[in-house]
Amino acid sequence: MKIKTSTFVMSNSDVTKCPNSQLPEYAFIGRSNVGKSSLINMLTGRKNLAKVSGKPGKTRLINHFLINENWHLVDLPGYGYAKVSKQEKKTFQKYITAYFEKRQQLVNTFILIDSRHEPQPIDLEFLEWMGTNAIPFSIVFTKADKLKPQAIDKNIADYKAKLTETWAELPPYFVTSSANKTGRDEILDYIQKINET
Ligand code: GDP
Repeated sequence: MKIKTSTFVMSNSDVTKCPNSQLPEYAFIGRSNVGKSSLINMLTGRKNLAKVSGKPGKTRLINHFLINENWHLVDLPGYGYAKVSKQEKKTFQKYITAYFEKRQQLVNTFILIDSRHEPQPIDLEFLEWMGTNAIPFSIVFTKADKLKPQAIDKNIADYKAKLTETWAELPPYFVTSSANKTGRDEILDYIQKINET
């Protein structure tokens, strides 16, 4: 898929106030600092569409972007930021849960995982929650340029092993690097294929 246009639509914390449109939507979520903003900028070919920040956990809103006038890319807040208060965590959980449970336009969620680390409990918990609630998702392993291919393969194999303890079938996964555009075509073509069916 070629990205011809990408525009910011709105930010909010209330699923009922998300764009009143029937366009299919694809969400991106992951641990703070996983490289989500960089990935969104890489996919859309824009330098600053999503804000890349040195300070993890800054974006706490549901952000909608309109892509090619025919689908929405949704930037969801990062989870697992240690410095967030308990109350903030609760509020966050509430509206993100509401988004996943109520947003009928949501077609697929890309869950970002840092390819440098072995399986982390917080990511596994989130994957389990998505699976248990039957919310379609794919996994995106980020920052692949920071590791040797064998090391990435090992971390992916470890994730697969962990997930197959619970699930018979594994979701599709992508290996990406925003630094050198690895995985860009694969993710965009995946979205295009779903949009065409
Ligand atoms: P977010 O908090 O998930 O939105 O993460 P950001 O996109 O702000 O990235 C966090 C940090 O990781 C920044 O310093 C980025 O420059 C860096 N980063 C993100 N993606 C990549 C990548 O693919 N390769 C490398 N080497 N660094 C990355």
